Amino acid sequence: MRPDAETVQPADPPPDPPAPPRIGASGAGPSSTSEVKYAWSEVPRQDPPKREAEERSADYLEIYRLYDPETVMAQAARCVQCAMAFCSLGCPLGNRIPEWLGLAAEGRFIEAAAVSRSTSNMPEICSRVCPQERLCEGMCTLIVRADPVPIGAIEKFINEYAFARDAVDAVRVMPNGRSVAVAGSGPASLACADELAALGYAVTVFEALPILGGLLAGGIPSFKLDKSVVDRRIALLEKKGVRFRTGVRVGSDISLGDLLARHDAVFLGMGAPRARELDIPGCGLPGVYQAMPFLVRKNLGTASGLPDIDVRGKSVAVLGGGDTAMDCLRTAIRAGARQAVCLYRRDLANMPGSRKEYRNALEEGAQFVFLTSPISIEGDPARGLTHVRCSRMALGDPDAKGRRKPYAVPHSEFTVPADIVLVAYGFDPISFPPESEWSAIAVDESGGIVVDKNQMTTLDRVFSGGDQVRGANLVVYAVRDGRKAAAGIHRCLSERAPQA
Ligand code: SF4
Repeated sequence: MRPDAETVQPADPPPDPPAPPRIGASGAGPSSTSEVKYAWSEVPRQDPPKREAEERSADYLEIYRLYDPETVMAQAARCVQCAMAFCSLGCPLGNRIPEWLGLAAEGRFIEAAAVSRSTSNMPEICSRVCPQERLCEGMCTLIVRADPVPIGAIEKFINEYAFARDAVDAVRVMPNGRSVAVAGSGPASLACADELAALGYAVTVFEALPILGGLLAGGIPSFKLDKSVVDRRIALLEKKGVRFRTGVRVGSDISLGDLLARHDAVFLGMGAPRARELDIPGCGLPGVYQAMPFLVRKNLGTASGLPDIDVRGKSVAVLGGGDTAMDCLRTAIRAGARQAVCLYRRDLANMPGSRKEYRNALEEGAQFVFLTSPISIEGDPARGLTHVRCSRMALGDPDAKGRRKPYAVPHSEFTVPADIVLVAYGFDPISFPPESEWSAIAVDESGGIVVDKNQMTTLDRVFSGGDQVRGANLVVYAVRDGRKAAAGIHRCLSERAPQA
C-alpha cells in the first residue's frame, strides 16, 4: 500500500454487453450491420467519461472512468476495417487493432482482449499511458474526414472487462531447464520476463527498490495509472512462475558476473534514472529539486525512502515541456500547491508533452508560459526561493530533428514567482563505473547501451532494452524492446548448449 496514493481503480467491473450483441441494437450505433462501414459518419467520437477537474485535482485517483458496453460497441463500430491498417503501423507493438475493434463492436469483449494480449504484455497499461494521438489514433484512416476511433480507451475497456471476469490466462508452462536474470522491474523487464516465462525459462527479476514496477510504479502518477493496475499485472507474472526479488541492486548487492555465472542470460532493464541537470545561477539553492524524486516520493510515499518535498501553499515552477513536466504540475496541484506554472522554451506546437495531458493539466489549473527560458533562480536566505528570472525566446530554423531552435530575445527579461522549482529536463541511462565489470558493455554518447538486432549488448549473453538503451522514452517502446529481447535471448540460447 502506498501511503500518498489512494487506490483502487476500477471500482466496479465493467457490465456485460447488451443482448443481442449486434451493432446498432442499442440505438447508439448505426441502424444496420450493412451500414457498419459508415458508422463513423453517423456516430461521433465519444471519449470515456472524465471526472470533473475540481473533484479529481483533490485526489490521486485515475481521472477517466470506463465506458459502458453500448458505447464501446458503437465506438468500435466506427472503425472502417480498412485493408491497410495504418493504426497498427502507428502502434509500436503492431497491435492487431482492427481485429479487436471488430470483436468489440460485436460485444465479444473477452475475445477482443485476447487478441489485444497476443501482441502486448500489458495492454491495460499501454492503453492508459500511450500518447495515442501520436501513435495508433494519429494514424487512424478516419482522421482526414472525422475524429479517430478512440482506440486506447476501447483497449482499456476490453482488458478491464477480461480482468473483471478472470478471463486473463496465467498459464505456467513446462520449464525448459534454462534461466534468465532480469535487472529492473519496469515495463521492458516485465515484458521480457513475461515472454521468457511463456517459453519455459525460469525468470528472476531483481529490483533495487522495495516496490516493483520501476517507472510504472514510481514515475507515473496514480491519476494516470493506478498502482493496483501495476500490482495486478505483476501478480499475474508471479502466477506464470516469474520470481521477484526486491531490495537487490544489480551491480552492488549482486554483481553482473554472479548473475552470468548462475543464469544462461541476463536482461538489463534498469531504465534512465540520470536526470539532466539545470546549469544556471541559483540552480543549487534550497528549493530547487529534480522532478523524479518529487514524483517518486508522491507516488510511493515513505516506501520510496526519499524525503518529502512539501509544496502546500507554495508557488511551484516546473522547467521543461515533456510528460514529466505535466506530471509534476498535476501532482503539485494535488499536493496543495498555490500555483503550478510550466516554463517552456518553445511554443505549444513544439512541446514534446502529450496534448491530452496538456489539456488535463490546464483543466486542473496548471499554467503554461511558453517561449520562456530560465536564466537564474533567485532567493534570499530568510525566505528561500523568491522567483525565476527568465528570458523570452523566439524560434529560429529547424534543428537536425526538425524542431525549431529557440533563441533568446534581447532585453526581454522578466520574473516568475517561485518558492519551489522542479527541473524536468529529461533523463539519461545511468553511467557504468569505468574499470568495472560493466566496461565490456558499449554505450553511446548519452550513456544508452548499444545493442544488436537481438537486443544483445557487446557483452555475450547480456541483453538490454527500454530506456536503458533509448534514454527516457514511451512505455510502449520499452514493451516492444522487452519482447524483442526475449525473442533474441531464446534465439541465441537455442543455438548453444546449456550453461554447465
Ligand atoms: Fe495505441 Fe499504445 Fe495500444 Fe498501441 S499500445 S494500440 S499505440 S494505445
